[in-house]
Amino acid sequence: VKIGVARETAAGERRVALTPETCRKLVAAGARLDVERGAGALAHFPDQAYADAGATLVEDAAAAVGDADLVLCVQPPAPDALARLRQGATIVGILQPQADAARGEAIAARGLLAFPLERLPRTTRAQAMDVLSSQAGMAGYKSVLIAAQLAPRFFPMLTTAAGTIRPTKVLVVGAGVAGLQAVATARRLGAQVECFDVRPETREQIESLGGKFLDLGVSAAGEGGYARQLTDEERAEQQARLAEHLRNIDVIVCTAAVPGRPAPRIISAAMVDGMKPGSVVVDLAAETGGNCELTRPGETIEHGGVAIAGPLNLASSGALHASEMYARNVYNFVSLLLREGELVFDWDDELLSKTVWPERDAAETRDAGAAPP
Ligand code: NAD
Repeated sequence: VKIGVARETAAGERRVALTPETCRKLVAAGARLDVERGAGALAHFPDQAYADAGATLVEDAAAAVGDADLVLCVQPPAPDALARLRQGATIVGILQPQADAARGEAIAARGLLAFPLERLPRTTRAQAMDVLSSQAGMAGYKSVLIAAQLAPRFFPMLTTAAGTIRPTKVLVVGAGVAGLQAVATARRLGAQVECFDVRPETREQIESLGGKFLDLGVSAAGEGGYARQLTDEERAEQQARLAEHLRNIDVIVCTAAVPGRPAPRIISAAMVDGMKPGSVVVDLAAETGGNCELTRPGETIEHGGVAIAGPLNLASSGALHASEMYARNVYNFVSLLLREGELVFDWDDELLSKTVWPERDAAETRDAGAAPP
């Protein structure tokens, strides 16, 4: 099987889907790897390391992926780049085929067998392939560093000759993968950390990281271990209790999300108005509209003395480790497809059948190398 990796072309994207480590493993599994020169450069993996790991370095994207059987990527290639892939090729990455009609059409028109990794079922077996988790971990970590950088204060308590400095009070909104990493990171910096979530089982997780569970009296566990959307009454209850509490908080890190929906609006403009000058809000949910009403995606603004940051693609800002984890996730998934150096699709495996796009019924009717074993 020929596997191709081109440089990522999305603006600001520094990560890469293949590292020298996973390249070596794929070569050992019988694959041939063609890597575009510079593919790993922004993540600090030099061309020579790929060559040493057994890849062939090629001059451009067309040479890397134009005739590949399997294409690995982080972000989806542009529709015109998809149209230049081999008919019926397989592609693995964060592809979000439904987010952009042109992209979805390009995948279908080319008869590509796409595995958008964000569609993987979140089962125990899939954990080692879960790119949402691995990349959310980096985002949660970086969000706290941004908050610390914007805050006009120390995070830890300090006892100095110039008197005592009180520790910063951090509130993390949402205790998923990113939120828990934010709790842990803020604790390591010495802040006093509180966190809340609508899934009650998060209390124990927050406490195990040294955070305090903030009980707002709302519980809304939904399907598959995720949260559901709140009812209007539940939302009002959450908002009333929160508004009062925020007067005493220095830093808010927002990470709440409901799968397939815009981010829940949790921090209103009025709540921000009630915060002390010098407070900071970092809104990781900016990508899907923000948990804070005032968030502007991709910008940092000031509102009545409160800094509000809406950073995008934070995982890319930690490209070296984010790529290491992403590439291992991809390798673990691709291992399901490789038998003696060839691509084989076991449609009885739900990790394949539930992830593939177009959805299984459509894929079934195509031949393009996708025949069951
Ligand atoms: P996510 O990014 O979809 O959501 C982040 C958090 O926001 C969630 O904890 C959610 O409960 C919370 N939230 C939603 N609405 C809220 C509201 N109105 N107020 C407060 N909080 C709100 O979640 P995620 O990090 O991708 O994962 C969520 C959970 O899924 C994990 O904690 C875990 O239980 C499960 N999970 C399982 C696996 C696996 O087994 N393979 C992998 C990853 C995650």
